[in-house]
Amino acid sequence: MSGLKPPPLRDDCFALPAGVDWTPVDQALDRLRARLHPVVGQETCNITNALGRILAEPVIAARANPPLANTAVDGYGFAGEILTGGDHVLPLAPGRAAAGPRYPGHVPKGHAIRILTGAALPKGVDTVVMQEDVTLGNGEIAFRAGVKPGANTRKAGEDIAAGEVALDAGRVVTPADLALLAAVGVDEIQVYLPLKVAVISTGDELLEPGQPAGEGQIYDANRPMLTGLVQQFGYHPIDMGIVPDCRDDLREAFNKAAEKADVILTSGGASAGDEDHVSALLNEAGAMAEWRVALKPGRPIAMGLWQGTPVFGLPGNPVAALVCALIFARPAMGVMAGSGWKVPQGYSLPAAFEKHKKPGRWEYLRARIREGRAEVFASEGSGRISGLSWADGLVELGDGAIEISPGDPVRFIPFSSFS
Ligand code: AMP
Ligand code: MG
Repeated sequence: MSGLKPPPLRDDCFALPAGVDWTPVDQALDRLRARLHPVVGQETCNITNALGRILAEPVIAARANPPLANTAVDGYGFAGEILTGGDHVLPLAPGRAAAGPRYPGHVPKGHAIRILTGAALPKGVDTVVMQEDVTLGNGEIAFRAGVKPGANTRKAGEDIAAGEVALDAGRVVTPADLALLAAVGVDEIQVYLPLKVAVISTGDELLEPGQPAGEGQIYDANRPMLTGLVQQFGYHPIDMGIVPDCRDDLREAFNKAAEKADVILTSGGASAGDEDHVSALLNEAGAMAEWRVALKPGRPIAMGLWQGTPVFGLPGNPVAALVCALIFARPAMGVMAGSGWKVPQGYSLPAAFEKHKKPGRWEYLRARIREGRAEVFASEGSGRISGLSWADGLVELGDGAIEISPGDPVRFIPFSSFS
């Protein structure tokens, strides 16, 4: 009998190898953040097509909002200097002031004029009493003491003055921003071109959905997921298909992708095994930073440049691929797309679970909120794709050892915080 013994089974296959320097997640993110910048061109865009676009320059208000002092209510306008402690009876000036062309006349001191919401204040008017607080007589109105000078009016430019910055560069234009842009008289804005993101799946075992599956074959789950993610971020996905575990094929795919895209997202083949051609190629190109990031689920993520185009070599496992895409590729792509580095908004919530976590790596658990508490998916197995659909977000656990009991606060990041 030979003395050769198989290695002992590891009880934790994510245990950190002794003597290897694993980069903590926060340090890896800081390094990425420091090294990236926008890589896309710019164009002008009419606000009718601007939803979701990224501002390449700050937008300066061309006009004040509101442009003229006006009334916030339907009522009667007059000069506030006549207000005293007592009740008032004021004669009405002829006509009325409504939204649209400004009332042409001057309202004499001590007179009031009928005025409707949004109307510019006529000359001689700086105060409005609400119609509900007024008794209307024959050619005059009466109201009680207590109306303050300037009441129920909006000052010109009280929201934004002409020449002020209405929106900052890097902002992703929202429906509310469209209202603001229109209000301040801006119809054309300078925006970044959408980031073009090539998506490649690697692996001999992968099949297109719809193809008949033989033994040992699985459907490519990552490409639809990553393409969807790219679309959700507002970028332009370029589908580069499935590439087998063959270095020459992958090299060719990288060449094509680098020509067409600003960023390349791959999944699979990112660690250091025989069939891990993504990391091998990036090493070969001499532009590899194999980030041994201490992250579960994750394992080494391959990041490097291929002919100047950044490649994010995500793990093949769909759960790990999604987590690494959200944690690393998302903020990095934000910088490259021009919207800057965005930290996802998380919330501290009581845990609905129990967990003993070892030190030395960050962990992301598939989680959802029920009755104000964060539940986690029953299995941490990273092959459990259904857990991604079950979850509404991730619970983030930092570097240290943590003993979590039900009710302890944990950080929950909803998936919506990543989009
Ligand atoms: P790899 O990182 O290439 O070693 O892949 C790790 C695991 O993820 C393996 O079980 C692969 O079969 C699986 N995998 C890789 N790519 C995909 C994909 N696109 N869709 C589904 N599973 C995948
Ligand atoms: Mg593979």
